[in-house]
Amino acid sequence: MTYTIPTGPGPQGPSDGTGRSRPADVLIVGAGAAGLFCARAAAQSGLDVILLERGAAPGRKLGISGGGRANFTNRHMGPQHYLCHGRQDFCVPALQAFTPDMILRQMRQWRLPVEERSHGQIFLTVPARQLVQALANDCRRFGCRLYCHSMVKHISRKGNVFEVTGNDMHWRARAVVLAMGSPAWPQAGGSGAGFRLAQSLGLSIIRPRPALTPLLLEEDAAAFTALAGISLPVTVSLTYNGDIRVWEDDLLFTHEGLSGPAALKASLFWQEGTPLTVDFLPGLDFAAMLDAPDAGRQSARSLLGRHMPQRLADLLLPQTTARRKLAELSRKERIGIVTAVSRHEIIPAGRAGLKKAEVCAGGVNTDEIEAQNMQSRLMPGLYVIGEMLDVTGLLGGYNLHWAWASAMAAARNLATV
Ligand SMILES: Cc1cc2nc3c(=O)[nH]c(=O)nc-3n(C[C@H](O)[C@H](O)[C@H](O)COP(=O)(O)OP(=O)(O)OC[C@H]3O[C@@H](n4cnc5c(N)ncnc54)[C@H](O)[C@@H]3O)c2cc1C
Repeated sequence: MTYTIPTGPGPQGPSDGTGRSRPADVLIVGAGAAGLFCARAAAQSGLDVILLERGAAPGRKLGISGGGRANFTNRHMGPQHYLCHGRQDFCVPALQAFTPDMILRQMRQWRLPVEERSHGQIFLTVPARQLVQALANDCRRFGCRLYCHSMVKHISRKGNVFEVTGNDMHWRARAVVLAMGSPAWPQAGGSGAGFRLAQSLGLSIIRPRPALTPLLLEEDAAAFTALAGISLPVTVSLTYNGDIRVWEDDLLFTHEGLSGPAALKASLFWQEGTPLTVDFLPGLDFAAMLDAPDAGRQSARSLLGRHMPQRLADLLLPQTTARRKLAELSRKERIGIVTAVSRHEIIPAGRAGLKKAEVCAGGVNTDEIEAQNMQSRLMPGLYVIGEMLDVTGLLGGYNLHWAWASAMAAARNLATV
């Protein structure tokens, strides 16, 4: 599969005979997952679409997503998998109108093979770059003009037309879609440029912060970092705005703190100073195991060592009781052991920074955006989609699905106005 992309800023659009270029129907800023998907759908509906990308190629983040296999959606989809600081139900109309089955059907049409992994996560089984190519090929096939090396710097509106300028280019369009992503993972081109452009157009920004990122531990928790490399299934829970959030997934100890899917998911909802509660024996009734009639001659240390690496068991168990026979322990001592293993509290010191964050929480305030079609309530004709919005999904394909769903919501509306 191949595609050609003009490498520089293009011409200024067809002339309307008056010497001035005729405005395009839609100009989309940013050829990431959301911008490509929106451009493709808008162009397919017959609109004259321009897609501008500042990088040398489209879809850089999409190309590295999911370890290079793009976890592009999830079987289990709903607003509970997203964080939005405004209306928590903001994402509902777009998710209802664009379901996981719809993107799966699209993958079949592109002949991109997929596989379902744990927790309903759906990945490609071929490199994610092939998905980028399929999107870019479709954009071209439907007549969308995609220009790379085209950095948009300024957007203004004169009457009903947007004027878009950047390095050596000047475009006019009847509608503009901002799809410029977030500052997360700057190694793949993430930046805060989109937020600044949105602000210049009157939109407000909910403070961006790294999310889906490892959690750091204080030095006094250094004992945990000595376990670096150990990964095991756990249940992590935390309280967020009065609700208890729970995830069962793998936790990885690192030299800096906690990583792996369980920690990355927790990082989205974790608030400074609050504890994570970790059950290191998910699905097992550890209290009942200690009380079992044939367990009395064993120590908690040897019992636990059969279910997890001994180094971790030694770190979790209270020194005073770890090596004693269970039959000798008081009720209170048993409760102490169960709490240390099944309700272990860890207070992270912070989150790893944007360089290790898959996404950014926060972004364009959804109170100022129409949930049905992603159009600004403050400036008709201006749309915001994808990660730029203050809608952040959990690990598991939710952020790419939001890119598709929000892009489709905008594209459907663009086709009708
Ligand atoms: C390592 C990694 C792995 C990930 N894996 C997954 C996964 O498996 N599943 C999942 O759901 N999510 C995953 N994500 C998150 C997901 O990739 C993003 O949420 C998604 O790509 C966001 O799409 P977007 O189109 O909104 O933004 P982006 O993909 O970031 O695209 C924005 C585009 O806008 C361009 N741009 C910015 N400013 C300008 C400008 N001034 N002028 C012109 N162009 C501009 C950028 O160059 C970029 O190409 C991962 C993220 C990372 C970093």
